[in-house]
Amino acid sequence: MKRPKIVVVGSSNTDMVVKAARIPGPGETVLGGAFVMAAGGKGANQAVAAARLGGEVTLVARLGADPLGDQAVAGFARDGILTDLIVRDPDRPTGVALILVDARGENSISVALGANEALSTDDVDRAAGRIRSADALVVQLEVPLAAVERAAALAAAAGVPVILDPAPAPDGGLPAALLRHVSCLKPNESEAERLTGIRVTDAYSAARAAAALRGLGPRTVIVTLGTAGAVIADEAGTRHVPAFEISALDTTAAGDAFTGALAVGVAAGITWDEAVRQAAAAGALAATRMGAQPSLPTRGEWVAFLASAGRGSA
Ligand code: ADP
Repeated sequence: MKRPKIVVVGSSNTDMVVKAARIPGPGETVLGGAFVMAAGGKGANQAVAAARLGGEVTLVARLGADPLGDQAVAGFARDGILTDLIVRDPDRPTGVALILVDARGENSISVALGANEALSTDDVDRAAGRIRSADALVVQLEVPLAAVERAAALAAAAGVPVILDPAPAPDGGLPAALLRHVSCLKPNESEAERLTGIRVTDAYSAARAAAALRGLGPRTVIVTLGTAGAVIADEAGTRHVPAFEISALDTTAAGDAFTGALAVGVAAGITWDEAVRQAAAAGALAATRMGAQPSLPTRGEWVAFLASAGRGSA
């Protein structure tokens, strides 16, 4: 397979996870529990997902000029991601997500955006050549909208497909200036609900939300529904793609694995339907393991899983 070229413009964080019996209330300290530190942030997760699945990936992001930033870059390099367009911000720290998880697996998260907040249109412009020659661009909304819009405009002008994962979904809806450049919009059920006002609870309501979102401009809308799979809406109509049956351990980054795989499929020129089936396999594999980036599957695992599920190979 020729390695599809993918550019991801987005966030990179260090996740610091503390597990305890319960989440402390205001002013309270709760002792005990394991501590895990792992790389996260939607942009970085999706870049790692696409790289592990066979993409030639460039990540455009901002990290602090600090040890957490050094660790993140070293991790990206181990996954074969091109890191030359990552900016190290001298004034802001690497983004950090403080995550508390209780005995039932419920979590409570506070994010210090740090350098992510300063990703600029100039940073994106420095990546213009790479974006124009890519097979797909992937963006999310954890970095400033102006940077996301610039990247999408550069890609669209060069005929490069743009996949937008609208997370976190903005309250006021997505700007028309951005949607105009998006080829594929990929919300999960809560994002689809926030963007449309349609309560998304199953494939039927997801199809209605997807159709409404298509009305805003993107040619293809894919709504993911966790264990209920995903719904695709495009000019050929609306259809449901089921999830794979697995025993889930931690669904963190399942959506990011899905998006990364979708980018690899689309960049390789396969149909949206086949790309969504393969993306569902990547999402399922990520759900079988703990954490964000540590849970993302390799190409070998992905191909084997697809083959064993009798759905053809990637
Ligand atoms: P997000 O993490 O953004 O909320 P979803 O939970 O919808 O995204 O997961 C994305 C995709 O990953 C789903 O469409 C599905 O194909 C797959 N997936 C997620 N969780 C599971 C699970 N528990 N079992 C099987 N597949 C899953």
